[in-house]
Order: sequence, then C-alpha cells, then structure tokens
Amino acid sequence: MTSKIAVLGSTGSIGTQTLEVAQMHHIQVTALTANKNIRLLEQQVRQFHPKMVCVMDMGAAAQLKIALRDLPVEVYCGEEGILRAAAESDADMVVNAIVGVAGLFPTLAAIRAGKNIALANKETLVAGGSLVMKEIKSRGVKLYPVDSEHSAIFQCLQGCPEKALKKVILTASGGSFYGKKKSELENVSIKQALTHPNWSMGAKITVDSSTMMNKGLEVIEASWLFGCSDEQIDVVIHRESIIHSMIELEDNAIIAQLGVPDMKIPIQYALTYPQRLPSPSKELDLTEIGALHFSKPDDETFPCLGICRQALRLGGVYPAVANAANEAAVELFLAGRIKFTDIGEIVGNAVSSFRWEEETVTLDSITAADKETRAKIKAYY
Ligand code: NAD
Ligand code: MG
Repeated sequence: MTSKIAVLGSTGSIGTQTLEVAQMHHIQVTALTANKNIRLLEQQVRQFHPKMVCVMDMGAAAQLKIALRDLPVEVYCGEEGILRAAAESDADMVVNAIVGVAGLFPTLAAIRAGKNIALANKETLVAGGSLVMKEIKSRGVKLYPVDSEHSAIFQCLQGCPEKALKKVILTASGGSFYGKKKSELENVSIKQALTHPNWSMGAKITVDSSTMMNKGLEVIEASWLFGCSDEQIDVVIHRESIIHSMIELEDNAIIAQLGVPDMKIPIQYALTYPQRLPSPSKELDLTEIGALHFSKPDDETFPCLGICRQALRLGGVYPAVANAANEAAVELFLAGRIKFTDIGEIVGNAVSSFRWEEETVTLDSITAADKETRAKIKAYY
C-alpha cells in the first residue's frame, strides 16, 4: 500500500476526498497543487504539512508564500511548478485530480520520475493514451484508475485469468437530463445542467455527465486501461448509480462492483491496493434501494457518446480533438455564451472537420491538435 502521496488538484472534488482518505489511513502528503483557491490550499498545507505546494496563478502564489512564511514549505507557481510537484516530492504515488487536458503533462512527469499514478484525470488518457501507456510500461510504474467505473472494472478483474475478459459494461447515470428529448434541451439552464442526480462533482464533469460526453470520455479511457476496442465496451444507463460497472467474461458470466455512489471508495482502493481497509463512506443497503434499472443510451438526443466512439475508431489525435472541443464548449456554456445543445454540435463538427494524416501520435501532435481545435472554436464564438 502507498505511504506517501502528492495530490494534484487538491482543492477540487476528488482532491479533497483524497485528503479525507489519506487522513483516515495516515498516508503522508508530500505535495499539493491547485489552480487558484489559496484559502483552501493554505488550510490543507497547515493540516497535511507537504514539502511543496503549487498554484497556477502567479499572484495567488505570491500571496500564498506570504501566508505560509511560518512553515518550511516550498511554494511554486505555474505549469513548471505543477510538474515539479508531480515529479520532485518523495511521494511514491501521484494522485492526479486536475480537471481537463492540463493534467496530461503532470501525469507524464510523474511517470517519468518513477511514481505510481492514481488517475482521476480521465482527459490524460483520452488525449494522450498511447503515450501514457507506453511510458507506464517502459518505466515499470503502476496506473490505478480512480474514475468509479474504471475502478469497478479493475476490482472485478482481480483474480480473473488474463485472456478471460470478453467485454466491459460501463454504467451511466444518464445525468441531469435523462429521458428528455432534443427539443426540451434547447433552453435548459446552467443551473439545471449542474444538478446531478447521484454524484456531487466539479462543474466540468457534471456538465459532461449531462451531455453524456463523460461516458464517451470514459469509453476512450477504458480502451486504454483495459486494452478493449470500441465494440468491446458497452454502455448501459443505470439511474441508481449503485452498480459502478461490470465485466463480461468468455463464459458469459458477468461480474459487477456495487456500492453507494461515493468516490472515496475508488479513491481509497487506488491508494491502498491491494488492501481492503475500512472506508469513510457509508454501507450500501440494497433493501433501501429496492430495485435497479437498466436501459439503452439515447444517442440521438445525446450525440457526444457516439462522437467519442467515432474518435476512438479514427484513432490518432481524434480523441484529443474531441476532448479539446468539449473543454472549449463547456467553458462557453458555463459562461452563458452558447446553448446546451450547441456542445454536442461543436464536438461533432470539430471531429468531422479535423484532418490528420500523420502515422504516429506525439506530444507535439496532441498539443497542436488541441490548440488548433480551441482556436477554431474561439474564432467562431
Ligand atoms: P474540480 O473542478 O472539483 O477540481 C479540479 C482541481 O484541479 C482543482 O483543485 C483545481 O484547482 C485544479 N485545476 C483546475 N484547472 C487547473 C489547471 N489548468 N492546472 C492545474 N490545476 C487545475 O474537478 P473534479 O470534479 O475533482 O474532477 C477532477 C478530475 O477527476 C476530472 O478529470 C474529472 O473528470 C475526474 N473525475 C471526477 C469525479 C468526481 O466525482 N468529481 C469522478 C470521476 C472522475
Ligand atoms: Mg466516472
């Protein structure tokens, strides 16, 4: 089990829950990073005594340095500082809880420094899956999924013979607008999109859940983690979010992982693997739930899942393009500048209009595709 962690994105939904788990199991925290929430970051530093801390914003870093002058903690700022926090503290595991493709470089820096990774930042694998998996292999480090569906699959796979996996079945809550038709989605508000039925999460992933983009990103994430093709990854709507995902084996046996919808369970499994320890989460009472329901996703009303599958089949930098377009579109939606239904259109257009003819994916080609996609969207809106 891990004894020292660095937490990137420690002030967010996953970051704060990671620290709760660390506290309960006396796991030492060696580095913390955040975008700009220095109030919370300062509290975290005072509670966990990391060796280094970093904020993206330069002004915020200067303020934090003054606030923490009584402590022997190194304060860094910007991307460079995040990379240092990922690679240079003496953590044996880096928990990546940053939101968006901004998490890709820190993941790579941590792997190259020989750290195991607990990965919540799915955009890392969506944009840079081929590079990340190559680095993981060549450095001999371990990558533990934190995303609840992928943790569920990882848990189901424990003890399964290597070649027995036939397919994975990702469950999806369906998000805020499950059951609605396209015409009803035209005028939904930001507040409605930010209201998730079962999970309390950061803003971006909550919007991604309501568009089904989150499940699309998770299909791509699963393809890298478990070596599955698009056809080997099923998605089933399961409103209760009690079954976190399943695997189907060669003999048609299906194995599922269940629990209350609480991210502290998958976070803890990544941190304490292979051990099973008491959790700060609640027990599941199935008699209280009563019934579990399943249905097919509505790909017509929610096109993002299908677009991500298309990007996965196209390969190369297409998943990075879909991700960049989505990040840009969600930002525009949250700023009140586009309609909810524009998100799917923007992502679809970005993938279908992108031209990529290179043979191999490199960090440069991913970065260029990401930039080009965002620039096109910015120029239009
Ligand atoms: P969040 O918005 O609550 O937190 C994001 C964290 O990243 C914050 O600490 C923020 O300061 C930091 N951050 C934001 N932009 C940054 C940047 N450009 N550079 C460096 N740091 C930056 O997000 P979250 O809900 O905790 O999600 C984090 C990641 O975990 C996402 O990739 C999300 O898809 C994934 N995830 C989240 C949940 C969940 O329940 N919240 C579940 C599964 C997967
Ligand atoms: Mg998930």
